Parts: sequence; structure tokens; C-alpha cells
Amino acid sequence: RLRLEGKTALATAAGQGIGRATALAMAEEGAKVFATDINEAALAELAGMNHPNIETFVLDARSDASVAEGVRRANPDVLFNCAGFVHHGTILDSTDEEWDFAFDLNVRSMYRTIRAALPAMLERGSGSIVNIASVASSVTAAPNRFIYGTSKAAVIGLTKSVAQDFVTRGVRCNAICPGTVESPSLHDRLRATGDYEAAMQAFIARQPMGRIGRPEEIAALAVYLASDESAFTTGQACVIDGGWSI
Ligand code: NAD
Repeated sequence: RLRLEGKTALATAAGQGIGRATALAMAEEGAKVFATDINEAALAELAGMNHPNIETFVLDARSDASVAEGVRRANPDVLFNCAGFVHHGTILDSTDEEWDFAFDLNVRSMYRTIRAALPAMLERGSGSIVNIASVASSVTAAPNRFIYGTSKAAVIGLTKSVAQDFVTRGVRCNAICPGTVESPSLHDRLRATGDYEAAMQAFIARQPMGRIGRPEEIAALAVYLASDESAFTTGQACVIDGGWSI
């Protein structure tokens, strides 16, 4: 029996990176996966793989209406909240606009999706919510990640609060805290520093394993947290960071 057989999953930001790898991994484990993103081209590429368990549609995690519609369509047992954006800089570099954007996309999006998906999970008496936080959060601080780290710490607080309130009702909620992981946006961030190679070496240097992570490695943890194998785990910030935060 496949590990997610009989389950339906809704994934945000599944067009690329960790979200895409997780949508594919969940589908391989037998889940019916609704893979969503705002990037239609990325979704079309994923849909083009013709995985029988994957259906794609546009879902903007910053829009109440889009989230409500997407949750209605998917009616998920597994909610995988992956949408997020990394702003660069210290508190002195940060703007109000960046702060508001990050808190809307990185945190409020999860408030939206969970509030929409939770009632049906409670009715069924089962559900698993998996939120992507980061090791740059309340776990540890990364340089020039003021807004990002603050928003991802909020994701951990949100995760624990939801887990606490529904722990007796069959719904679990956990967060994943990755270190630096290979993804299209990682390359954008490296390029934005002006010295791609030096920035890549600096990112690798803070991972004691001497390499950055692969999206499939994060996806494997997401599958575990989505599945009934993790039935005794809730409210946790699960770190997967190549030893960065040891
Ligand atoms: P990425 O940053 O390369 O891709 C992000 C995806 O989010 C894109 O496909 C984009 O279209 C989508 N997106 C943007 N705005 C959206 C919206 N409003 N609604 C829906 N989708 C939207 O992918 P990644 O680097 O794998 O990051 C995914 C998540 O993992 C993020 O929350 C990120 O903060 C977190 N994370 C990443 C790393 C890393 O090193 N890559 C480390 C820790 C945590």
C-alpha cells in the first residue's frame, strides 16, 4: 500500500522548488494532488509531466477568494503550505512594503488556507497540515534575513497554535524548517548579491555537511508528516538543515 493512498492533498507554490518536488513525491505515494501556484507557465510544465495523480490550477495564496475557491475544489486531507518569499537585508534596510508583503505571503496565506480547509478536516476527524517555515526563524538567525526570519518564526507560532487547538480532533499541524535548499529562487538570490560564486560558497559554508539541500529531501519529510506514519507528531518545527543549527 502506498503511503498516501486515499488522501487528497492541496499544495501551494507547487510550480517550482520545494513545492513542486513535494507535489510529485505525494503523487508518487498515491495521493490525489492539487498542485497550485500563481506561475501558470510553471504549472503548465508540471501538468505536462502527465502524472495521473496531479491536477494543477492557479491559486494565489495572497487572495481570500482564490484560496476559498481552491480549497472548495480540492477539499484536502493534506494541506501543504509552501508559498513564501525571501527579502534581503537587516532591519535598517527593510521597508514597510516588504514587511507587509512578507507577512501576507509567508504567514497570512497559511491563516487563509488553514481557516478554509480546517472545518472539513474536523468534520472528517482527520487531517494533516504541513507548513514550510525555515531554520532562519525562531530556530536560528541568518544574516540579512530580518523580515524573512521574523515571518518564518511566526509560521512556527501559527503551527503550534493550530496544533494545540485541534490536537484532540484528529487534525495535526507541523512545520518544516529547511536550511538552504536548491531552488530557482535560490539562484535569483545568489545572483542578486552581485557575486554568485562567493554567495554560493558562503551558503554552502554554513551547512556543516558541505552542501545545500535538495528539494526532494524536504519533500520526503513532507510526505512523512502528511502520512499516518507521523500520527503521533503534531505542533513540531522539524529541522532539516544539513547540520546548520546543531
Ligand atoms: P521558490 O522560491 O523557487 O518558488 C516559490 C514559488 O512560490 C514560485 O513558484 C512562485 O510562483 C510561488 N508563489 C509566489 N507567490 C505566490 C502566491 N501569491 N501564491 C501562490 N504561489 C506563489 O521555491 P523554494 O525556494 O523551494 O521555496 C518554497 C518555500 O520554502 C518558501 O516558503 C521558502 O521560504 C521556503 N524555504 C526555502 C528555502 C530554500 O533555501 N530554497 C529554505 C527554507 C525555506
